[in-house]
Amino acid sequence: MKSVKIILKPKKEESLFRFHPWVFSGAIQKMDGEPNEGDVVDVYTSRNEYCATGHYQIGSIAVRVFSFEQIQPTYAFWRDKIALAYKMRKSLGLVDKEKNNTYRLVHGEGDSLPGLIIDVYNHTAVLQAHSVGMHAIRKDLAKAIVEVMEGQVTDVFYKSESTLPFKSNVVSEDGYLIGKCSDECIAMENGLLFHVDWLKGQKTGFFVDQRENRSLLEKYAKGRSVLNMFCYTGGFSFYAMRGGAKLVHSVDSSAKAIELTRQNVELNFPNDPRHEAYALDAFKYLDDMEDGKYDLIILDPPAFAKHRDVLRNALQGYKKLNAKAFEKIRPGGVLFTFSCSQAVNKEQFRLAVFSAAAMSGRNVRILHQLTQPADHPVNIYHPEGEYLKGLVLYVE
Ligand code: SAH
Repeated sequence: MKSVKIILKPKKEESLFRFHPWVFSGAIQKMDGEPNEGDVVDVYTSRNEYCATGHYQIGSIAVRVFSFEQIQPTYAFWRDKIALAYKMRKSLGLVDKEKNNTYRLVHGEGDSLPGLIIDVYNHTAVLQAHSVGMHAIRKDLAKAIVEVMEGQVTDVFYKSESTLPFKSNVVSEDGYLIGKCSDECIAMENGLLFHVDWLKGQKTGFFVDQRENRSLLEKYAKGRSVLNMFCYTGGFSFYAMRGGAKLVHSVDSSAKAIELTRQNVELNFPNDPRHEAYALDAFKYLDDMEDGKYDLIILDPPAFAKHRDVLRNALQGYKKLNAKAFEKIRPGGVLFTFSCSQAVNKEQFRLAVFSAAAMSGRNVRILHQLTQPADHPVNIYHPEGEYLKGLVLYVE
């Protein structure tokens, strides 16, 4: 089948010649045919030179490019891309039966597979499509995952109900594409165990992107009183406990998340009295909290800004939240503070935290500047892929 040809307006090819993988709808002059959403299209300059091949989509990003060479993608094309991604994760030491079976196998543009996320939890891969093009080939992708993973992955769960573009007419029908996790679905990260609920949980079931930041926290935990605010399923909490924390309090507004946190802590540290979990609102908890109760605080809120137009409010939100922590953390305390909003850049986040520190009048030093781990790589030609920012601060 011949791909539909998309012809750009003059000069609109420049970003593609720098390998940026998106074509915005406003850059298109005309289409030689009528593509359906999810179809493979070829992009040409106004002078009729070939630029790129990608999936077509109605909306602001009209084409998500997966090749800068003219190809008709076959099953082998997708399989080889997944194999490359797997090879990279193996070289990072993330595929380790004894210690770690949780990692991101494919991170969209970062792995030259725009619109596709794949997270691995033990023998299950959770596949998430953010474009109709990736949705259309989900069965091939599932087959390719099992083929390249050398028996490490036997089940593939598809979860795209909330990530497919809402304007498209496609219905995700989440469920297993291959196999089924018949046991308890327990995965391991750096030797710690946790239940994953990809069916009902947030994202693909776990926040895989905090693995290395959790490891760093473990090193700071010894003898400290820890508050894990926005704990979700308790990731930072069980690292803090392994690190020798005196006590760990996990807080999240979701009762379901708190239940999972309790189960996960129990899985790793049965009957350990150091841990308590509370289903409460973060702002209320911080307001009611006595001064100096904790000397290690984690603030990992949900994305306050999902779009650029709400940026101002989001920055105010970060400022308000961090100000409460600066006000109450014990002298000599350490604050791990994060933003996962893609719309907020590193400098803006730092400025919000800086303003919060200034309000408290305390002496604050930056110990570490954190980001997303290597299995969430940023394509150098697509800086928009950088989203996780964190600061570790020493508060006198
Ligand atoms: N730190 C977690 C991920 C946090 S995701 C990890 O390592 O896995 C953000 C969490 O914030 C979600 O679980 C959500 O339920 C919670 N949340 C959202 N608004 C909140 C609020 N106002 N107070 C407390 N928790 C909130």
